[in-house]
Amino acid sequence: MKDYLRRPYSFFLSRNSSDLAKTVLHETGQAISGALLPAMRLLSQIMLAGFVLAFIIAINPWISILAASIIGVIYLTIYLTARKWLNKIGRDRVDANKERYTATAEAFTGAKEIRLLGREDNYLERYRQPAKRLAKHEANSSLLNDTPQYAIEAFTFGGVLILVTLLITVEGGIENAIPIIGVYALAARQLIPAFHKIFSTFTAMRFNLPAVDNVLEDLESDTPKTLPLSNTNESRLRPKHTIRLTDISFRYPDSKGFALDQLSLSIKANTTIGIIGHSGSGKSTLADIMLGLLTPGNGSVFIDDTKLTDAASRQWQKSIGYVPQTIFLADQSIKENIALGIPENEIDMASVIHASKLAELHDFVTSELPSGYNTIIGERGVRLSGGQRQRIGIARALYNNPDVLFFDEATSALDNATEKLVMRSIKKLSGTKTIILIAHRLSTVRSCDEIIVIDKGKILTKGTWDEISASHPAALA
Ligand code: ADP
Ligand code: MG
Repeated sequence: MKDYLRRPYSFFLSRNSSDLAKTVLHETGQAISGALLPAMRLLSQIMLAGFVLAFIIAINPWISILAASIIGVIYLTIYLTARKWLNKIGRDRVDANKERYTATAEAFTGAKEIRLLGREDNYLERYRQPAKRLAKHEANSSLLNDTPQYAIEAFTFGGVLILVTLLITVEGGIENAIPIIGVYALAARQLIPAFHKIFSTFTAMRFNLPAVDNVLEDLESDTPKTLPLSNTNESRLRPKHTIRLTDISFRYPDSKGFALDQLSLSIKANTTIGIIGHSGSGKSTLADIMLGLLTPGNGSVFIDDTKLTDAASRQWQKSIGYVPQTIFLADQSIKENIALGIPENEIDMASVIHASKLAELHDFVTSELPSGYNTIIGERGVRLSGGQRQRIGIARALYNNPDVLFFDEATSALDNATEKLVMRSIKKLSGTKTIILIAHRLSTVRSCDEIIVIDKGKILTKGTWDEISASHPAALA
């Protein structure tokens, strides 16, 4: 969990969240109980088998060695034959488990759309197949674990009978044969469980090795590198004069074109900047780079004279309030969502209320919600409207009284009247904070100090509204 949380943001763009949840919740446990514990028990089991063997060899060497080799060879043959197969079904168990987790998560997250499309059966099938495979592999591996014991016991019993007949004729009487038969029976009786334990440990380890690999692969991979967790005592990196981007180029992994192409930009501190452009032109990518979430392939971001490195970006992020287009909401109360992640008894209610007032949320919370700021909003805020969710996101960004505010199409989901109210509050902050406003509604950015028009990862033009409407009227159309 810690390792995943320390990954750069780009790691989460390339991985499925249910898969990560599966590794944390399931595969680690499987790796410990299925492979690590058996491996630790192996030594004691080998010692036990060794003592048993030594004891019966001391009583009657030849019969004991014969019995031990036969039983040993049988187990070894079964293990060697099944080894590849165990590894294969072990790997497929990990895959099936991943599919099972993804299918469950998607079916419940998309419950509304799936219901309307009537695709419940398809999702059930997407769950049923991997669930069946997983059950089958687990059953097969434990079946393999138990079967040889019965087979070998049957074989040993047959061996005793043959030995009895043989010895009676050779030794010339049951009286002489009994002690030898006794030793053989004792040897088998002691050796089978001891050998069986070793065998089942090896098979369990084989079957669960892919789970270990699954965890280790993620833990050991040093690309992408891990970042330090944020330290609460760290000071803020506040822009005093400018936020400067020099020659920024960025390409998403596995994509052909550049999302940003040699883009340079300088933003004066405490001004309000509007960024507009068609969908897919690179606005969010630009914001994510300025936020220190994505590392540009080329070029750098400077906050005054500090270059945004991994360490510096943690301090920089402390002075940022960010509102995305879709707000993540936790199944907790309004106040816990505004102060996201902060334990309930440490939440500063004055800041919550102040932020809510700025976000035009306060009246709604106090007059319409049954328990005010303590109202639980449901998973992903299902009990709220889109505009209300958005305003929680805005209040969350303002809770820390940030120096820099990013709005990435954050007000698009608001109706015109509410957006006007929210924009009026934001404007009240202008002059004291640096505000970066990405929008597609032109009216949203109209009063910005500067407007930047992005097209295909480059700056098409910039200036005030009046300047752009004179020079590039098409950009504002
Ligand atoms: P905007 O916010 O202006 O609509 P984005 O910055 O989100 O645009 O996207 C810019 C380009 O990068 C688009 O062509 C988009 O398809 C691509 N893109 C965005 N996110 C990813 C990603 N995670 N992986 C690959 N390509 C991406
Ligand atoms: Mg976007």
